[in-house]
Amino acid sequence: MEEQVELNKRADENRPNMNDYEETCNSFTWEQAASELSGFSNGIGLNLAYEAVDRHARGERKNQVALRWLGMNEEEKEYTYAQLKEQTDRFANVLKELGVEMGDVVCTLTGRIPELYIAALGTLKYGGVYCPLFSIYGPEPIFQRLHKGKAKVLVTTRELFDNKVAGLLDRLEHLDYILLTDETDVKNRFIWPLSPLMENVGSSYEMDPTHPEEPALLHFTSGTTGMPKGVLHVHQAALTHYMTGKYVLDFHPGDVFWCTADPGWVTGTSYGILSPLMHGIKNLVVEAEFDATLWYQILEKEKVNIWYTAPTAIRRLMRLNIDVQSEYDLSSLRLIHSVGEPLNPEAVLWSQKTLGLPIHDNWWQTETGGIMIANYASMPIKPGSMGKPLPGIEAAVVEVTGNEGADRKIQVITQPGVTGELALKTGWPSMFRTYLDDEDRYNKCFAGDWYLTGDLATRDEDGYYWFVGRADDIIKTAGHMVGPFEVENAIMEHPAVAEVAVIGKPDPMMGEMVKAFVMLKESAKPGEELLMELKGFVRKKLGPAVAPKEIEFMDELPKTRSGKIMRRLLRDQEVEKLHAKTKIDGEL
Ligand code: AMP
Repeated sequence: MEEQVELNKRADENRPNMNDYEETCNSFTWEQAASELSGFSNGIGLNLAYEAVDRHARGERKNQVALRWLGMNEEEKEYTYAQLKEQTDRFANVLKELGVEMGDVVCTLTGRIPELYIAALGTLKYGGVYCPLFSIYGPEPIFQRLHKGKAKVLVTTRELFDNKVAGLLDRLEHLDYILLTDETDVKNRFIWPLSPLMENVGSSYEMDPTHPEEPALLHFTSGTTGMPKGVLHVHQAALTHYMTGKYVLDFHPGDVFWCTADPGWVTGTSYGILSPLMHGIKNLVVEAEFDATLWYQILEKEKVNIWYTAPTAIRRLMRLNIDVQSEYDLSSLRLIHSVGEPLNPEAVLWSQKTLGLPIHDNWWQTETGGIMIANYASMPIKPGSMGKPLPGIEAAVVEVTGNEGADRKIQVITQPGVTGELALKTGWPSMFRTYLDDEDRYNKCFAGDWYLTGDLATRDEDGYYWFVGRADDIIKTAGHMVGPFEVENAIMEHPAVAEVAVIGKPDPMMGEMVKAFVMLKESAKPGEELLMELKGFVRKKLGPAVAPKEIEFMDELPKTRSGKIMRRLLRDQEVEKLHAKTKIDGEL
């Protein structure tokens, strides 16, 4: 009997934060959301780091674990909210000591190590702009981002510095300091070891009040044309991070949360750092990359309650024949979420069968700063659907007519099942405020008071949204955006290349794989040797996450009359080839 009461109590505590979707949407206001945060009432204004760390460090949760880090080689580290406050205060004092100014950009280029989390939060409380860089990038994408972001400070490791940054220093005129996380005694004008700096500054930092519209986060994302775009967010984004933690990820006091995203991407910041800490729960950080056995062991041993991962990882788990429920005790797991790419209905069904829980898909993008459409804990899941808009968010499927600018018109498609562009009514707190130094490109994303996402979708009669595809040529490989132009530029630098087109070829594991079609100069000899040389050349420049996995030599590239390369046609041909192969395989 007692056991029954205990079970009921637990079930009660874990009841979804949102009971009724419609009712919550009807009564929701962002003002109410703001009142659940505490900076305003404490004279701090709205600062992401204050809401994520300081407010808990000053309250009842100060001795609870904020970050639990599982390093390679079985290393472990934990920081309570009070300890995380001290570390991030120290980092803010380091920035002050170095003469960094408010609004300056501080980048990290590291894997999942505690210093990244401390630098991110310390930068935000100092009033700097935090910008994560993906550690798998090669030197060229790193240069582009540091240069475009006019980064003043870079936090990185000795190895990453030596391999990827050292050769760029002459071209990085804005960069003043490189702080190495794993050195203790080097020092020159540029390079400082981080730990002695941290030790030699004060352990507490007095924050200046932060205006909600002050710049806070800079994330680079890829476009179809031009180099990467710097997406700028402000501290106001805290409201979305907080509300999505409450209603989508469904955080409850005492939860253990694990977000597997790389911290170099937006999910790694919004949900790998900020949202769980804003809710005062334990944020698990695992340094190692994907490994099915390790992941299941972590879910079991760490008693993870909420797990946020991505279709690429799920597909890899699905491929393995592991009897998860009899080999692991995943009884702590309450919710599984996925983002970044379409989540096939089979994955939701596989998860229900294999893990005992369905996967809740949700949709958002770098520009939206936080989750916008989701499958909520209290709502029936339609496998294959992204779910419904967050309370406070108005979404629509629209038809866009006319050219960019004043004569562009938006027609909301009300008929269910009709494909159009997914649009969001402007004005949500984490809406990006600009593309760095590219106001024109920013303006082109809007029509009237709608933000056009660049994704195609449909809406069904129950209000669920279904992803159809991208409206442009951006490649999504293993959950990461890759702009074809950036890859084409790097390939063009090889002396044998005359022309190139880069596409995303459908791939069962990675979603899409980067593939390049190359037209050689007449003087060049096509063949295996040149192919290997070209692959190595691009890989060295761009890094393995961005460089093409396949390169095909072509005599001619398909072009429009005006001379534009028709990437779409090349992609369609790849899709056809794939279908033909599946058909033959099926018949055999
Ligand atoms: P990023 O800005 O790198 O986060 O990529 C955002 C893009 O990823 C979106 O515009 C979509 O094209 C895609 N995406 C994100 N989440 C989903 C999802 N749940 N289903 C389908 N596509 C998604």
